[in-house]
Amino acid sequence: MPVKRAEKTPMPMREPQVRAHDFQEVNQGYTAFHAAFEAERCLRCQEPICVDGCPVQIPIPEFIHAVAIGDMAAAAKILRTANPLPAICGRVCPQESQCEAECHMVKRFSPVAIGHLERYVADWERTQPLAVEAKITRQEKIAIIGAGPAGLVCAGELARLGYPVTIYEALHAAGGVLRYGIPEFRLPKAILDWEIGILEAMGVEIVCNVIIGRTLTLDQLFDEMGYAAVFIGTGAGLPQFLGIPGENLNGVMSANEFLTRINLMRAYEFPDADTPMRVGKRVAVIGAGNTAMDAVRTSLRMGAEEAMIVYRRSEKEMGARLEEYHHAIEEGVKFHWLTNPLEVIDDGSGWVSGLKCQKMKLGARDASGRARPIPIEGSEFVLPLDNVVLAIGTTPNPLLTRTTSGLLTNNKGCLVADEQTGLTSKALVFAGGDAVTGAATVILAAGAGKRGAQAIHEALTARNN
Ligand SMILES: Cc1cc2nc3c(=O)[nH]c(=O)nc-3n(C[C@H](O)[C@H](O)[C@H](O)COP(=O)(O)OP(=O)(O)OC[C@H]3O[C@@H](n4cnc5c(N)ncnc54)[C@H](O)[C@@H]3O)c2cc1C
Ligand code: SF4
Repeated sequence: MPVKRAEKTPMPMREPQVRAHDFQEVNQGYTAFHAAFEAERCLRCQEPICVDGCPVQIPIPEFIHAVAIGDMAAAAKILRTANPLPAICGRVCPQESQCEAECHMVKRFSPVAIGHLERYVADWERTQPLAVEAKITRQEKIAIIGAGPAGLVCAGELARLGYPVTIYEALHAAGGVLRYGIPEFRLPKAILDWEIGILEAMGVEIVCNVIIGRTLTLDQLFDEMGYAAVFIGTGAGLPQFLGIPGENLNGVMSANEFLTRINLMRAYEFPDADTPMRVGKRVAVIGAGNTAMDAVRTSLRMGAEEAMIVYRRSEKEMGARLEEYHHAIEEGVKFHWLTNPLEVIDDGSGWVSGLKCQKMKLGARDASGRARPIPIEGSEFVLPLDNVVLAIGTTPNPLLTRTTSGLLTNNKGCLVADEQTGLTSKALVFAGGDAVTGAATVILAAGAGKRGAQAIHEALTARNN
């Protein structure tokens, strides 16, 4: 008797797991029980290589030990002394490829969850009365250009060293990418405001709506305003485009514009806020880094019924944090790996109707160290779409360097600066963060800000002696 084949069950389609307009923070973090349990796992190694993996050199075993013995005030103090943005870094740092990757426990077990503990301590600190005050002991005024993590951390360190510091920020609010790029559901603005509030309580002045290179020149900061040194932390906010046909159609935009309109200009509150944002039913985000994951998850919250990532390499080569990738999967995002966009299709009225793509295969490694994608002939297909968001990278904005003599940049438009001190080609002008490295991470920018502050302090101290 012929065996009846079981009826084929269709693969369940994942429905988006987020509600439109729900920008609430996704992770709820650790409870006191989790924190104490996790802190007990730390071996307090004699050679804590986790610290070497941290760009701001947090004394990790010390703060974890303080959590283990229940001395939260000590834990918070240790953290904040090393890193002026702990509540932010505890949420957005890629610990899995930094301190946690180095943790000795990795050899046999899972690493100590350093990031979760950092976040837990910083969130505890938010429930306590503020214990900081301004202590200005130095005469020399320092100007900082840009209020992203590099500029904020540099300012915090200089304020701690007793300098009067002013940050000039082009936008109407401080925070850089932390404010206009990373969405509310990953980094609530209240957390950012709180961390910035601590820096202001330490005496840091923040002046918004000032573009250095337009409103004022860098040279005016020295010559007319009497600053003794300048730190540049202007980031890499200029989006890159693919250069494919149809890229200028309505409904195509850079992830920077998409996220800025939503984060900073409150497009998610339209029509109550003025900024309109038309997000259709089907949205594709090109790229697979952190920015792409933020854009694709945001598009679901803006009401897209289908949101997808289109990436020319494979899952293995994507730049996004694993945690963000997993959140995107859980929320119902689809992934078109090994898929290269060729053309954005016009619906006949100047709006997007689809994206012509080609399948790729991976070849030998290229200059970036990743496998080179190679087109597969005859594999072209069209994805029907309403929006295309480009998240394929950013470069530094050339405005400041074009209006300042003697500031050298490399062939990628990044400022040339000493790796250790951040000193640029111009005397007493230091730089750090994405403006120097190109698009990187919050903690690398923070580390550069910290080193820059120390170098400014040493340069001014040496000049006075
Ligand atoms: C969407 C998105 C998500 C990300 N997610 C993560 C993540 O999860 N984890 C992580 O570690 N990193 C992440 N990153 C990267 C990280 O945010 C950046 O590496 C970091 O913010 C760089 O800090 P920065 O201070 O160098 O520059 P920015 O954060 O870019 O800040 C620069 C500031 O300078 C201001 N500015 C620029 N030019 C001028 C001027 N001429 N005058 C005055 N002000 C000026 C800008 O307005 C801005 O406020 C993400 C990036 C994006 C875009
Ligand atoms: S390497 Fe791991 S176990 Fe050792 S001190 Fe650091 S966090 Fe603790």
